[in-house]
Amino acid sequence: MGEPLITLEHVTRTFDVKRQTIKAVDDISLTIPEGEVLCLVGESGCGKTTTGKMIAGLLATSAGRILYRGQDIATMNRADRRRYRLGVQMVHQDPYASLNPVQMIYNIIAAPLQHHGFTRGEAATRERVRELLTTVDLTPPDDYLEKYPHQLSGGQRQRVSVARALTVRPSFIIADEAVSMVDVSIRISLLKMFGRLKDEMGVGVLFITHDLALAKYFAWEGRIGVMYLGRLAEIGPAQQVVAHPQHPYTQVLLSAIPEADPDRTRSKQRIELRSMDVPSLLRLPSGCAFHPRCPAFAGEICEKVVPPLKKAGWGSDVACHLVK
Ligand code: SF4
Repeated sequence: MGEPLITLEHVTRTFDVKRQTIKAVDDISLTIPEGEVLCLVGESGCGKTTTGKMIAGLLATSAGRILYRGQDIATMNRADRRRYRLGVQMVHQDPYASLNPVQMIYNIIAAPLQHHGFTRGEAATRERVRELLTTVDLTPPDDYLEKYPHQLSGGQRQRVSVARALTVRPSFIIADEAVSMVDVSIRISLLKMFGRLKDEMGVGVLFITHDLALAKYFAWEGRIGVMYLGRLAEIGPAQQVVAHPQHPYTQVLLSAIPEADPDRTRSKQRIELRSMDVPSLLRLPSGCAFHPRCPAFAGEICEKVVPPLKKAGWGSDVACHLVK
């Protein structure tokens, strides 16, 4: 493992909704080393995007601290803050909304290069834009320079978003559901592109998705963190989480993923939830928030006591009273 790049210490984020305060993220602590892939997985509303936005500095924490290379991002001086802002980039879910529709692709990518002084002069900027388009597999690059976003497919637009993020040579990219709006056939090639960025450029990736099958594919050499209603349920090496899921919620999610082999899918035993209703953040269940749905529900302790995230087997940390 490399040096810690991002550290979350007891991070909580609340929002005021309908005269109540909800905890979108509740007491998350984790460390992401340089060059690591971490997938945050969970249902909509589990807090994964809010966590990503706080790491990117787009949302403040309500409690706890986020450190970038050991420094608290809330108290950084101007120079360190600039380094952090350039070092951590976010690629959003919707490539349609995140690119300026009236700018040509060349201008979209050239603007941050010139603004932050990464290139000097038109010729150098043009060359760097070509390189970046090639890095994200938009080749030959000259075919794209003078196009507008609406002239590209969803997958191509997402590649432009990634090329724009790479202009400032980031150490870390937060990809928030970055492949969920493109066709399944394009998803794999986008995932391969993110994997290449990690392997060839050493860029760490926080990959946020609701789809555990995607997380399993993408984070195979990294880690998976499973979130439920604002808290981490389980986090560990992807291969161990997939082979030996310990939290009942992770077990349920994995049991619902179809296998490549249809016979294995047919014989796979699906674990049923006690209830299909996802509780509202406005009325969080007491104790373990998963208890009204948990197939392993163990009575009073689950209803009354919030399970802490603690070291368990297979290198994972798990928040469940039944896991020793
Ligand atoms: Fe299920 Fe209880 Fe474990 Fe929560 S603490 S996941 S309710 S067994």
